[in-house]
Amino acid sequence: MNDLVRPSRVSELLRAYGLNPSKGLGQNFLVDRHALEKIVGAADVHDEDVCLEIGPGLGTLTRELAERARTVLAIEKDKKLTPVLAETLADYANIELQFSDALEVDYRKLLEPYSPPFKVVANLPYYVTTPLIMQLLETGIKWGKMVFLVQREVAERMTARPGTEACGSLSLAVQYYAQVKTIAVIPPNAFFPPPKVSSAVVLLEGRDKPGQHFGLVNEKLFFALIRAAFGQRRKTLLNALSAGLDVPKADIQRALAGCGIPESLRGETLGIESFVKIANQLT
Ligand code: SAM
Repeated sequence: MNDLVRPSRVSELLRAYGLNPSKGLGQNFLVDRHALEKIVGAADVHDEDVCLEIGPGLGTLTRELAERARTVLAIEKDKKLTPVLAETLADYANIELQFSDALEVDYRKLLEPYSPPFKVVANLPYYVTTPLIMQLLETGIKWGKMVFLVQREVAERMTARPGTEACGSLSLAVQYYAQVKTIAVIPPNAFFPPPKVSSAVVLLEGRDKPGQHFGLVNEKLFFALIRAAFGQRRKTLLNALSAGLDVPKADIQRALAGCGIPESLRGETLGIESFVKIANQLT
C-alpha cells in the first residue's frame, strides 16, 4: 500500500525533512489513490516497460510505476527533495533518479541504453506543461503512450477540435503525434497543497508514423505553418502565413487556391488535414 497518498503522511514527511512545497516549482503533491490509479491504469504499465517520469516529487507516482515497470527514469529539478526521495524510493532497485531541469534533458541520449517503446508518465508542474510536452513530442524518442496529469484547461486545449476557442498550436501538435483523450477530471483536493483549479488525466497514444498517416511531405514546414497561423490569430490565413513564414503573398495565394482553401479564413478554423494540404502545396 502506497502510504504517500495519505495527506497526513505527506505533511509528516515534509515536516521531518524541513520542506515547504515550492509554488514556483509547481509542487502540488498527489494525495488521492483514485487519481493515482487513473494515471497508472491509463499508462497500462507492464514489466517490460521503461517509464520516464518528470517531477517525482515525494515519489508517490514513481513507486507505483516501479512496482509494475522494468525501469523508471525519474527527473526532478528540486535537489532539496534528495533525502526524502532516498527514503521513499529506498525499496526499489529499478528507479534511476536524476536531478536536472526536465527542459534541458537530452532525452534521446538518456533513453539510448534502453529499448523502446517508452512510456512517459507524469503529474506535470503546471508552469512548464506546454513547452515540456512539445519538447517530449519533438525529440523523436520512440514512445507508445504518454499520460499526463495537467490543469484541466490544458487538457481541454490538448483535446480541442478545430474551430473551437480552445484549439491552438498545442492541440494540433499533440493530435498530429497522437490520439488523445481525457481519462478523468481530478478535483483540487486530490493534491497537497490544493491548486486553485481542477486538473485532468490525459492519455496520448502515439501514432506509429504520423507523417505517413497524414500524407505529409515536410514536417518542419507543417509546424512552421501552424505556428504562423496561430501566432497571429486575428489576421486572415493569407496575411498570417505570409508574415509568419516570410513568403510572398502570391505564393501563399497559389498554395491556398491549389487546396481550395479560402484565403480570408482564419487559421484557427483549420484542422491538421488542411495544414497538411497547404504544407504539401508549398513544398
Ligand atoms: N509526481 C509528484 C506527485 O505526483 O505527487 C509531484 C508532482 S508536482 C505537480 C511537480 C514536480 O515536478 C515537483 O516535484 C517539482 O519539483 C518538479 N519540477 C518542477 N519543475 C521541474 C523541471 N523543470 N524539471 C523537473 N522537475 C520539475
